[in-house]
Amino acid sequence: MSILSFDTAFERKVEEIGGVTASVCYQCGTCTASCPLGVQVRKILRDIQLGATNDAVNDQSVWGCATCKLCELQCPRGVNITDLLHSIRILAFEARKAPPKLEQALWGIYEQGNPYGGKKGDRGKWAEGLNVPVASKQQTKFVLYAGCASSFDPRLQNIARSVVEVLQKARADISILGENESCCGDVVYQIGEEGFLEELVEKNIKTFNESGVETLVTISPHCLNMFKNVYPHYGKMPRVVHYTEILSEFIDRGDLKPDKISEGDGEEIRSTYHDPCYLGRYYGIYEEPRKILESIPGIELTEMPDNKENALCCGGGGGQMFNENGNTTRSSHERASQAASTNSSLLATSCPYCVQNFEDAMKTKGLKLEVRDVSELLNRSLNRNGSMV
Ligand code: SF4
Ligand code: SF4
Repeated sequence: MSILSFDTAFERKVEEIGGVTASVCYQCGTCTASCPLGVQVRKILRDIQLGATNDAVNDQSVWGCATCKLCELQCPRGVNITDLLHSIRILAFEARKAPPKLEQALWGIYEQGNPYGGKKGDRGKWAEGLNVPVASKQQTKFVLYAGCASSFDPRLQNIARSVVEVLQKARADISILGENESCCGDVVYQIGEEGFLEELVEKNIKTFNESGVETLVTISPHCLNMFKNVYPHYGKMPRVVHYTEILSEFIDRGDLKPDKISEGDGEEIRSTYHDPCYLGRYYGIYEEPRKILESIPGIELTEMPDNKENALCCGGGGGQMFNENGNTTRSSHERASQAASTNSSLLATSCPYCVQNFEDAMKTKGLKLEVRDVSELLNRSLNRNGSMV
């Protein structure tokens, strides 16, 4: 379609879906220049303004966005870029333009309740041997929502197990959802499949209500965002928190007393911390994970120059973990190099996607930093032998 053929109805439709406007964008290009994943944001915004329907909907660049909000931070006009790109994805999905890999992930969620290829009935297996009850009408104060990544990926299961073990050590009243848990729908939302999203979200809200959930604790910041930002449009939700919020409270109250951890030779561990986009820029949770790390004797925390709201994205949000378009690699490699430049031996973070992307990046780039979730480090410090070996 020629961009000379204006369709103002298209701009109105995009804005109506997202509830935000593209008209204030004055095409400075700061967003495109600041995007770590090379998304052609300015051009997409121009296509919306000009009503170039086909150009916008066919632009595969929109599927490369990790929804990290770094561009929004830089935009001098305060354009809500991620919501506008999301509206384009909804229209592109309707026009059957979504990438096949994302469609495949969608089918996994539809058939088995997760995009990892795991069986629905195996969802609670990560918790075997932990002696943690499954939520029922008999309420516990906290119910842990493990999420698909920490339920099915063998490496990431250690994060879910660590969170449970730490909560047990704090004598927290905790249960899990086990087989009753299903995908939060983040990928369904990111691909723009609105009909299935509604069905999935309403079913999950029903499960939370039937399980007597009072406070839902998430491991993944992406699940946190779905429950806090998307679910309330469909029904009443319980209180939702990220695990770093409650663990930092337990530390404040003295319910958790970490012991020293060290390198194999007894040396102090120099660690840097990566702020996950969906925890930091989305919810301003910067201090809680740092407080947990700083409470662990033996860890010396050092910051990367790009930290907190300026942190570079790992590249995993917006469905990129299942898209395989190469963008994830680009961003996570750069961030891994930033971490290495601090002379740390450890990169701590608090999101399963970040852990996975940075472990891959360290291996590919031949960097020696160990990548750990904050919960794994805290759990290690609460074990008798806190050695890094
Ligand atoms: S930074 Fe903002 S104003 Fe500039 S082109 Fe991007 S969206 Fe438009
Ligand atoms: S990846 Fe981040 S910086 Fe790039 S367009 Fe998406 S939200 Fe903006």
